[in-house]
Amino acid sequence: MEKRYIYADYAATSPVSEAVLNEMLPYFTEQFGNPSSLYKYGRNARKAVESARERTAAVLGCEPSEIYFTSGGTESDNHALRCGAELMAAKGKRHIITTEIEHHAVLNTCEYLEKIGFDVTYLPVGESGVISPEQVKKAITDNTAVVSVMLANNETGTIQPVYEIAELCRERGVLFHTDAVQAVGNIPVTLSGNCIDMLSLSGHKLGAPKGTGVLFIRNGVKLPSLIFGGGQEKGLRSGTENVPAIVGLAKALEDSCGSIPEKSARLTAVRDMIIDGLFEKVPAVRLNGDRACRLPGNINMSFLGTEGEALLLMLDMNGISASGGSACAGGSPSHVLRALGLPPEAVQGSVRFTIGGDITAEDGRYIVDTTAQIVKRVRNMSSLWERYSRESGNSGILKYFSSII
Ligand code: PLP
Repeated sequence: MEKRYIYADYAATSPVSEAVLNEMLPYFTEQFGNPSSLYKYGRNARKAVESARERTAAVLGCEPSEIYFTSGGTESDNHALRCGAELMAAKGKRHIITTEIEHHAVLNTCEYLEKIGFDVTYLPVGESGVISPEQVKKAITDNTAVVSVMLANNETGTIQPVYEIAELCRERGVLFHTDAVQAVGNIPVTLSGNCIDMLSLSGHKLGAPKGTGVLFIRNGVKLPSLIFGGGQEKGLRSGTENVPAIVGLAKALEDSCGSIPEKSARLTAVRDMIIDGLFEKVPAVRLNGDRACRLPGNINMSFLGTEGEALLLMLDMNGISASGGSACAGGSPSHVLRALGLPPEAVQGSVRFTIGGDITAEDGRYIVDTTAQIVKRVRNMSSLWERYSRESGNSGILKYFSSII
C-alpha cells in the first residue's frame, strides 16, 4: 500500500484557504488602521469590520446588530454563560442546566459558576449521546437562569435537538445558549425563526484563522460585558478588533456554509465507507455516538484491547493525522465517552477521525486498511487482547463491541 498523507482532524482545526487569506492580507499591510480611529485608515478598517458583520449575519440568518466578534469559541462560551448567569441572577435566578458532554469551555465555566453560588444540573446522555428535549423540560425550575446545550459534539459528532430545546426554554423565560463551534460550516445552522438566544462559533474550525470567533446575542437580551476596556463591540467586548481575522472569518463562513450540500453528501459517503470498512475488517470495534444523528465528517471508534495513544502514533507514522478525542483534553480520559456509559477499558482504545477538505474515497480506503493493520499489530502485542480473546459470548466488556473476537 502506497503511503498517503491524510489530515483527519478537522474537528481540532482547519487550514485557511487561499481565498480567505487573500481577503485578509490587505488588512495586515496597506489597510492596517485601527477601526476606532477617525481618519481614512481607521474608517477603512471600520468599514471592513462592519461589512464582515453584515456578511456574517447574512450567513447565519440574523441581524448584524446581533453579531459580536470575539477571540474564539472559548471566549464566546465564557461570555454567554458567565454574563447570562449574571443577567438572570439580577432577577433572582441562579440555576444553570447543561449536559455532561459539553466542551470544557462550557463545563469549566459552569464549575466556576458553582463556586460562586449557582446550582448547575449536568444532564446525562444515553448511549447514543443525544439528549432529549423532555430531559431539559423536566430539569427546568422557576429558578433556572440559563440552559446551554451544544449543537454538535466535538468528539462524537452527535447533533442535539437544540431548536426544540430553545423553544421550551423561551416558554419558561429561560435564556438558551448553544455552542455551535463544531456545527457551523458542517451542517445548516440558522438563527432565523427560532428561539436560540445566544450562539458561539469559532473561526478556526471552519477555515478562518485561530483566535477569532463570534458570539450571537439576540436583540433584546441585555447581556453584560465580560471584557472591559475601550468599549469596542458596542461596549460588550472591549479590545481593538482583529480586523484581518474578522474579515477572514466572514469569508470563511460564506465559503464553508455555502458549500454544505455538496460537502455534506461527499463527506457522508466517505465517512460511511470508513465506518462500514472498519466494521468489516476489524473484529471487536464500536462506533461511539448515534450513527444517524452525527456530523458528516465524524468517525469515533473504539478498538477493544488497544491503547488509543499507540494507535495514534502508528497512524501518524503512516501519514494519518487523527485524534484521541478533543484536542483540548490534553490526554485525559474522554468525559464524553464516559458519559455515554462506556467503561474505561472501552474508552481507552478510541480514535476520532474528522474528515474534511477534498478527502477522496481512496483516502477513505487507505484509512480503513491502515487502521485495520495497525489495530492487528497493536493487539498482537497486547496482553489485554489475549485475555479478551479467551472470553466468549456477549458478556462483560465484550457486549459494548461488534462481532465476536
Ligand atoms: N466548543 C467546542 C465544541 C469546541 O470543539 C471547541 C474547540 O475545540 C471550543 C468550544 C473552543 O473553541 P476555540 O478553540 O475557538 O476557543
